[in-house]
Amino acid sequence: MTRRFNEKKLVVASHNKGKVREISELLAPYGVDVYSSAELSLSEPIEDGETFIANAEIKSKSATAESGLVSLADDSGLVVPSLGGIPGIHSARYAVNPETNERDFPYGMKRLNDELGNKERAAYFACALSLAWPDGHVETFEGQVHGELVWPLMGENGFGYDPMFRANGLSQTFGEMPAAEKHAISHRANAFKKLIDACFKN
Ligand code: IMP
Repeated sequence: MTRRFNEKKLVVASHNKGKVREISELLAPYGVDVYSSAELSLSEPIEDGETFIANAEIKSKSATAESGLVSLADDSGLVVPSLGGIPGIHSARYAVNPETNERDFPYGMKRLNDELGNKERAAYFACALSLAWPDGHVETFEGQVHGELVWPLMGENGFGYDPMFRANGLSQTFGEMPAAEKHAISHRANAFKKLIDACFKN
């Protein structure tokens, strides 16, 4: 049976400020005190799973083991079927610029656009959300949003690959949309709705 979240405190198991901000905004209506992994100085586990779900569970379980608190982890990325699914679970690593060894999304998006060339530009973002309890119980949900990759890049909102991704049926990229509009339709919002319906609502 699905377990409900009845605690006051929750750890968002991420060191990515963009993600922590988005998840905190999505959790705002539920009156939970949110802490990030960085605030609690939690370590970053090795994400060696082969799926978004496996990696989300590695992160939620690790944060719970270290903090003793229920932890919520997100593993997400951009999937391009015409390129065999890349960058997929390697979306963050794919954007590391070899010249600086730093994550650099303008570099990553140009790299992806160059690899795409004239290939089919359909793509989707996927997000797995995993909630882990200290006794080992885990609830995990996945959401997606489908669209296409555009060039040139449009907009500076959001994070990561947002300026390159336009969801089906919309005229703006995620980089151009106000945060509230992205939150209404994103892969993370989609997974989040499943999580909320199962674990947070009465
Ligand atoms: P993770 O931290 O291993 O889950 O890496 C996820 C990566 O996927 C991020 O660093 C971004 O590159 C990309 N990504 C995930 N969600 C989004 C999003 O909502 N917008 C843009 N890029 C995203």
